[in-house]
Amino acid sequence: MKEKIKTLSFATRAIHCGQEPDPLTGAVTVPIYPTSTYVQQGIGEHKGYEYSRVSNPTRTRLEQNLASLEGALAARVFASGMAAIHAIVNTLKAGDHVVCGNDLYGGTPRLFNQVMADFGLEFTYIDTSDANNVERAIRKNTRMVYVETPTNPLMRLSDLAAITSITRRKKVSLVVDNTFMSPYFQQPLSWGADMVVHSTTKFLNGHSDGLGGVVVCAHQQDADKLAFLQKASGAILSPFECWLVLRGVKTLAARMDIHDRSGRRVAEYLSQHPKVRAVFYPGLLDHPQHTLAKRQMTGFGSMITFETGSLKNANKMLKRVRVCSLGESLGGVETLISHPATMTHAALGEKGREAIGITDGLVRISVGIEDVEDILDDLDQALHAI
Ligand SMILES: *Cc1c(COP(=O)(O)O)cnc(C)c1O
Repeated sequence: MKEKIKTLSFATRAIHCGQEPDPLTGAVTVPIYPTSTYVQQGIGEHKGYEYSRVSNPTRTRLEQNLASLEGALAARVFASGMAAIHAIVNTLKAGDHVVCGNDLYGGTPRLFNQVMADFGLEFTYIDTSDANNVERAIRKNTRMVYVETPTNPLMRLSDLAAITSITRRKKVSLVVDNTFMSPYFQQPLSWGADMVVHSTTKFLNGHSDGLGGVVVCAHQQDADKLAFLQKASGAILSPFECWLVLRGVKTLAARMDIHDRSGRRVAEYLSQHPKVRAVFYPGLLDHPQHTLAKRQMTGFGSMITFETGSLKNANKMLKRVRVCSLGESLGGVETLISHPATMTHAALGEKGREAIGITDGLVRISVGIEDVEDILDDLDQALHAI
């Protein structure tokens, strides 16, 4: 069965892998098992499930599905993206050092610096878009390199093949946050990464109706450690939330195709608009890493950041949008717009934002799957306010 599934294409695996009909009733959707415990037939005699913090059949199915989509050995799901990232750094121990990208999702450095640093982990932040910086930052006690590509919000890429040639030589593991591209457009394990993390809250679930996180692993050792952490720390995803992701992921390929097509249209439109001073989107020919984007990803996605010139301009436009909604998060069927300086990257402070190029006029858009003409009309009328 396993061999057969491997040959199926992505869209088919999304719908069928781990999503086989229920053997008991034939139900075509995976049942939700809202149970904390399982009856045992005798001491140590059970059907593989003992207690739902350790394992739950709905969760098992989701983990099988997501492992298949990332081409991984195993997947472990957690209560949120941050819980998944927390589990990853919990595989380290005091004195270990992590080299990180300097343009990560805001919650990640907050966890690293304000929580994990107190437990003796050390973090160094560098521009990973130049792989040479990674090599220079690795020390004797470095155990992990942690990157996001493309980054949030500036859409800078890191060359995964170049970085893994360093991490493999130095025997350091590479972790990639693949939330922005989803496994449909980017497969970091195929470039040699060791673990991939997603906030399933975003494209994987895709409907803005549940939080979740997943770590997919290339090695049994990491998969075992993370399963142990599910049991030991308990930040697991509930059966209902697992089911939401199982449902959402069935349309991942279809949604990502629309996200990508509309993303390209919106990026083109913005890049020609007289009030828009700059557009950050890897699909544009003038993106400095467009060639790398074409090599490393199979689509460009729907995350676009653009410069309106000032906080005042950004606010004027954001107050006028009607189809698009101003809010945190991304990757849903609806178009979401956010203001990085006051939302996702507020915790960095003005100096921190300045250092990586996040200005007050930047606006980030997660293009949804509404009719793209309606999205373009909405942006057009909103940009008139500037
Ligand atoms: C949202 C997000 C996270 C955090 O995930 P939660 O599900 O909100 O905990 C991590 N990384 C990236 C890139 C994200 O967009």
